[in-house]
Amino acid sequence: MVFNSLLVCEECDMLLREKPLDPGSMVICPRCGHVLHRYQPEGLQRSLVFSLTAAVLFVISNAFPIVGLTSQGLESSTSLLGMVDSLFHDDMPLVAILVFATTFLMPALVIGALIYMLLPLRLGFLAPNVAAIFRIMHLSKPWAMIEVFMLGLIITISKLNALATVLPEIALWSFVCLMFALTAAAANFDPRTFWDQVEKLQ
Ligand SMILES: [Zn+2]
Repeated sequence: MVFNSLLVCEECDMLLREKPLDPGSMVICPRCGHVLHRYQPEGLQRSLVFSLTAAVLFVISNAFPIVGLTSQGLESSTSLLGMVDSLFHDDMPLVAILVFATTFLMPALVIGALIYMLLPLRLGFLAPNVAAIFRIMHLSKPWAMIEVFMLGLIITISKLNALATVLPEIALWSFVCLMFALTAAAANFDPRTFWDQVEKLQ
């Protein structure tokens, strides 16, 4: 947590005056030893690379069938949004909304916000309303976790499995890679380093 040039230790509430840091160095609370901030400019670059990778995987995950279905000799396949649609019309609107939010909306929000904040920064300028976008990403970040995606996906496949035999298709593998790319993108994004870089541009 940062107030102007003061740092607050989240563990023991000690107030520290902030000093400029060299890359790779970190601030440790002198009272309780908690790591307050690690300055890693290359972390933002890693975050951007993982975000761009996640964006490509997101497109693949939605453009191709996620599962093939075999029911009574009939074969068909469905996309991620197709699964949401069939859940919705199968009298499971709440499950459909949960799956839509965890596998489509939240990943889209986090990928979009990270690229919006990091790509212009990498190119040497600031995107407008970066603080508002940062807040949106901060709110949706707890949802952008492997566990949540997995839950959404497992619920969908188990619901579909009750109706037909489910065979994995290309978008499912792409979606699994997407989960890892997005988690890595979020983990490498250090807000303090981000704002340090923003301040340098202002
Ligand atoms: Zn402390």
